[in-house]
Amino acid sequence: WKILILGAGGREHALAWKLSRSELVEHIFVCPGNGGTAQNPKTSNLDLRASDFSGLVNFSVQNEIDLVIPGPEEPLVLGVEKHFRKVGIPVFGPSALAARMEGSKAFSKAFMERHAIPTARFRTFLSSEVEQAIEYVQTCGHRVVLKASGLAGGKGVLIPESTEEAVNGLRNIMVANVFGSAGDEVVVEELLEGPEISVLAFSDGYTIVPLPAAQDHKRIGEGDTGLNTGGMGAYAPAPVATTAVMDQIMNETLRPTIDGMRKEGFPFVGMLFTGFMLTEAGPKVLEYNVRFGDPETEALMLLLHDDVDLAAVLLACAEHRLDSVSIRTRPGYAVSVILVSGGYPGNYPKGKRIEVGEVPSDVVVFHCGTSATEDGLVTSGGRVIAVTAAAPTLEEALSLAYAGVDNIHFEGKVYRRDIAYRALASSRQ
Ligand code: ATP
Repeated sequence: WKILILGAGGREHALAWKLSRSELVEHIFVCPGNGGTAQNPKTSNLDLRASDFSGLVNFSVQNEIDLVIPGPEEPLVLGVEKHFRKVGIPVFGPSALAARMEGSKAFSKAFMERHAIPTARFRTFLSSEVEQAIEYVQTCGHRVVLKASGLAGGKGVLIPESTEEAVNGLRNIMVANVFGSAGDEVVVEELLEGPEISVLAFSDGYTIVPLPAAQDHKRIGEGDTGLNTGGMGAYAPAPVATTAVMDQIMNETLRPTIDGMRKEGFPFVGMLFTGFMLTEAGPKVLEYNVRFGDPETEALMLLLHDDVDLAAVLLACAEHRLDSVSIRTRPGYAVSVILVSGGYPGNYPKGKRIEVGEVPSDVVVFHCGTSATEDGLVTSGGRVIAVTAAAPTLEEALSLAYAGVDNIHFEGKVYRRDIAYRALASSRQ
């Protein structure tokens, strides 16, 4: 088979790595890819604009691509699936209608309400209704979270400390348009408390198969302090997601979501990535994403059992026969530690030489923001490399990953030394 992956990050490198181990797979094109996807003999980078859907379709027809996997949300929300569907090329990813579950938080909240899926209480306001929104936050009697409804690159959520801050936040989103048109509609929801987990689940529109729950680390600083980033590391399984919690999530959220979407006429094919807050009243949905998570995917690809053929699983989803394949994970834990450029998530330099020394054989080095140049490998993004390892215990997985981290060098390398600290603390109790 020939596969086309759209995207350029660690998530895409991790998918390409796992897919390249499939005997069914002859070649993988990654568009535009990165320095890592340029290095594997079974993968090559494709120099087309990711937004050039007709160019991508032409390439895929000419090169007899058997399966397309869009990595990020933008092409899915913009309807890339339909372009390939028209020429009969299967896509592991949802239609534009199904992608609204991520593309519009107002839409997904209304969907959850219709299907009685546990989530924070909320109200939705158009930007013309700023006065009503202000009145609501002043009178609702609980702390609120403000969310721009549209895609805002993971930055469209404000958690105000006071009513006054909430009112200012509403004005910033709805009047000053700090999140652009993503803030044309705003979801104001109840602040939830509890540990947060991410559940990534394969679906073919009928069946849904979750992977072990992951936890990521969004903040730049150790102890979850400082600015938000695209993710500084992740690990799975998260011990807080006990079997009972996962059963509840399956029954109250994942199955009703997949059934509800199909019944409403937009079945979900692809990776449904649901963020949950584990509250005292049970797991509640924070958001849906309609694609693989980054950096969760880097860890989860190592957690998939060696005998899982990812290409077969993804095609089975696209062909609505997920129940015909088996998905097993290996026992133990996987962790991914992200190395970022100094200055990120603010301004940072690019083009710094990267030296990858010897890393333990159980460590996999996924590239995020790297480019392969004539002078060798250089940095080209904020998040540079995801050092990933799996082992029977979390402690072993962490010590392998950090041994890998110590042997990768570039000027200004920054990383967090406390990945998975919550799980470690709970296992010591
Ligand atoms: P992501 O980067 O995960 O895609 P996003 O901008 O799409 O983020 P959400 O996941 O809805 O938005 O929210 C981002 C973060 O804000 C969550 O990971 C969570 O930590 C926090 N958050 C969101 N909703 C709530 C809530 N109701 N109560 C408390 N915290 C919340």
